[in-house]
Amino acid sequence: MAIPNIRIPCRQLFIDGEWREPVKKNRLPIINPSTEETIGDIPAATAEDVDIAVKAARNALRRDDWGSTTGAQRAKYLRAIAAKVLEKKPELATLETIDSGKPWFEAAADMDDVVACFEYYADLAEALDSKKKTEVKLHLDAFKTHVYREPLGVVGLITPWNYPLLMSTWKVAPALAAGCAAVLKPSEMASITSLELGEICREVGLPPGALNILTGLGHEAGSPLVSHPDVDKISFTGSGPTGVKIMTAAAQLVKPVTLELGGKSPIVVFDDIHDLDIAVEWTLFGCFWTNGQICSATSRLILQETIASKFLDRLLEWTKNIKISDPLEEDCKLGPVISRGQYEKVMKFISTAKNEGATILYGGERPPHLKKGYYIQPTIITDVDTSMEIWKEEVFGPVLCLKTFKTEEEAIELANDTRYGLASAILSKDLDRCERFAKASQSGCVWINCSQPCFWQPPWGGKKRSGFGRELGEWGLENYLNIKQVTQYASPNEPWGFYKSPSKLGNC
Ligand code: NAD
Repeated sequence: MAIPNIRIPCRQLFIDGEWREPVKKNRLPIINPSTEETIGDIPAATAEDVDIAVKAARNALRRDDWGSTTGAQRAKYLRAIAAKVLEKKPELATLETIDSGKPWFEAAADMDDVVACFEYYADLAEALDSKKKTEVKLHLDAFKTHVYREPLGVVGLITPWNYPLLMSTWKVAPALAAGCAAVLKPSEMASITSLELGEICREVGLPPGALNILTGLGHEAGSPLVSHPDVDKISFTGSGPTGVKIMTAAAQLVKPVTLELGGKSPIVVFDDIHDLDIAVEWTLFGCFWTNGQICSATSRLILQETIASKFLDRLLEWTKNIKISDPLEEDCKLGPVISRGQYEKVMKFISTAKNEGATILYGGERPPHLKKGYYIQPTIITDVDTSMEIWKEEVFGPVLCLKTFKTEEEAIELANDTRYGLASAILSKDLDRCERFAKASQSGCVWINCSQPCFWQPPWGGKKRSGFGRELGEWGLENYLNIKQVTQYASPNEPWGFYKSPSKLGNC
């Protein structure tokens, strides 16, 4: 597919089906991470815009054209959105690349996932019609109960920058499928494609207010969304520290939240792997894909001592072969990290690791052939101790650290030696061992003989400090449904008989 040349659209906030200038008229720059140049700007919403958007969402729920739709009717909108994303895939992938630094072919693959995710939730929206009202069997004949699965209401969706449109889709598609009205607040670091989703919603005629998109800063646009009294739920994906702030603010209103946070996931490589090169490739992909900015990056390599030297030699050869370039270039496999701030943060992790006594076996620098842009070489760190920051903290950049082990017990202990619990991976021929590992892993996802493949049908989410709640699959839809029981007294002519009836007291 040819990579198109593209102009950055100048958009406003998407509220009530229209483009609206922010009340305070503020805008934020868009910086291309591969050139460090400002290439456009996005509107910056504040509390005033949040209030307008939340009202528009509430009105959409009150109006029949959204609030009274069946799942089948909503499925049509979701399929129309999917078709438009597919039609605009080359442009959207290019915008995503310019905005986030993600290699173009990865961005294009993300667009395929966006399409599939909207289509998948269209199917679930249709299926919801037959599950909307279900009987619940009781032990008494005097009562009958049924359960409604109904839209939760107005939901606030807050997303990060590493998979900009895809992370928005993971929330928007199930929220709309469930019949909620949503206010999406994408990351200020990469909002272009989420704003383009607004244009797509306009083109397919999604009823006004069903989806509103507010770009802006976390503390100016995200925070008032979380604290807004008329928002029924917040679904958040982002960093742990922001997750804590969101949970704290939502707790003041007893507002439900789902939190998809960061991780420091392990990949455990045993000496009975099927093939050395295949294992090395999964190890690289597990950590360096998406420029190393993956929540579930298996960034702690736990390697069996018996193959350590052979494995490391091969790992180095493969790493040296990774093409680092402008992400629009064909075959780019590693682009820049998102921003100057992120670049400095990653470099600081590397220098702290060095100061704490670890060895930078490879990388750790700006690639010499790239003078501009937030590029960092793929970095491999050895001589790591479990007390070191590099072992414990999420870097969110192309940095892999390594420890060796002798026994399976030791490997499991090292794998779980983290306050996070998003994902883990194991590479071994012994499938019984893999299953033992899967059961012992304190995480929400286990990959066997691979790392990172993520599909829309199974559940996604973490435990421990990686958050709680599940997105994707049927679980993703449940996030946006209220479960309501309706219980009926089925013998209305029979007295209940708890109190004595005054008419039967015998004094008249
Ligand atoms: P971040 O926490 O800085 O920002 C995420 C979003 O929250 C942004 O839209 C931001 O504007 C908003 N925000 C910031 N402060 C806020 C506040 N006080 N109130 C409300 N909203 C606020 O995270 P990031 O740097 O954009 O993303 C990287 C993080 O996301 C990493 O930790 C990564 O692991 C995590 N992540 C997790 C998953 C997952 O599925 N678990 C997926 C992708 C990314």
